Amino acid sequence: MGCDVEYFPLIGDAELVARAALTGRLILTRDTLLIQRKAARANHFFVVGDRYKDQLRQVIGRFAIDPLACFLTRCLKCNVLLVDIEKDQVRERVPPYVLSTQDIFHSCPSCGRLYWRGTHRAKMAKEIKDIFPQQNGSHQLI
Ligand SMILES: [Zn+2]
Repeated sequence: MGCDVEYFPLIGDAELVARAALTGRLILTRDTLLIQRKAARANHFFVVGDRYKDQLRQVIGRFAIDPLACFLTRCLKCNVLLVDIEKDQVRERVPPYVLSTQDIFHSCPSCGRLYWRGTHRAKMAKEIKDIFPQQNGSHQLI
């Protein structure tokens, strides 16, 4: 959804809390022990439930995020904003079928990963629209 987030599933609680404070980030968590830490008490949003769609609705609603406004504008690996890249510059780096069917490409300035509008993108967009049917308005997904 284009939100600036970090995810560290294996980080220790003390390090996570310190990193959030250092980077000015809010902690999204379901960890009841973590939120009892002094440094995390005022810097977290506690997510309820086990179903990711419900969790996503909670976060989107709490922070008034438009789930489609910045859809897939960040690198899925690095969290860095993607930049446009000319088709001529990716000819040697994408499969022939992709090159013959796609005209718009984006790249990650950090890792160099390439992105294009494949079927996976359409599936992800459909899922977001299914989770947030009220958001199916005027957004043109890039
Ligand atoms: Zn990247």
